[in-house]
Amino acid sequence: MKKLDYILIALLIGISFTPYIFLRTSTGLSKNVYAEVLIDNEVVKKINISDPRNFNKPFEMETDHGHNTLLVTTDGISVSHADCPDQVCVRSKPIKKENRVIACLPNKMLIKIIDEEDSTTDNDSEHNHDDDDEIDFISE
Ligand SMILES: [Zn+2]
Repeated sequence: MKKLDYILIALLIGISFTPYIFLRTSTGLSKNVYAEVLIDNEVVKKINISDPRNFNKPFEMETDHGHNTLLVTTDGISVSHADCPDQVCVRSKPIKKENRVIACLPNKMLIKIIDEEDSTTDNDSEHNHDDDDEIDFISE
């Protein structure tokens, strides 16, 4: 009976830890990287470029200044089509690192990469210590 209790406790702890483990690995694999789209220095759109649901989906940016089509892939975000005369934005390589930008001067459009993963780092390490303490207690 006692042995069974231990198994039950171990099982329950295993289940209760699963969400933490899942959360930790999933945030580790895909950190939240966003692309901010600015037109006339105002943020008009924020796209999560680390979210596979946004991959290979065109984002149409239609403004008074012109038209740009943005595309997100595993390489980052790029401008796949634009009606600007210089086509500098279309020739720019995809960006996905923080502080990188793609600019379309004729259309007054700017794509800026921002990284939003730093805030939870401290909480995560505290969780780790709690988990260790509980495991030690059970094994005694
Ligand atoms: Zn352009």
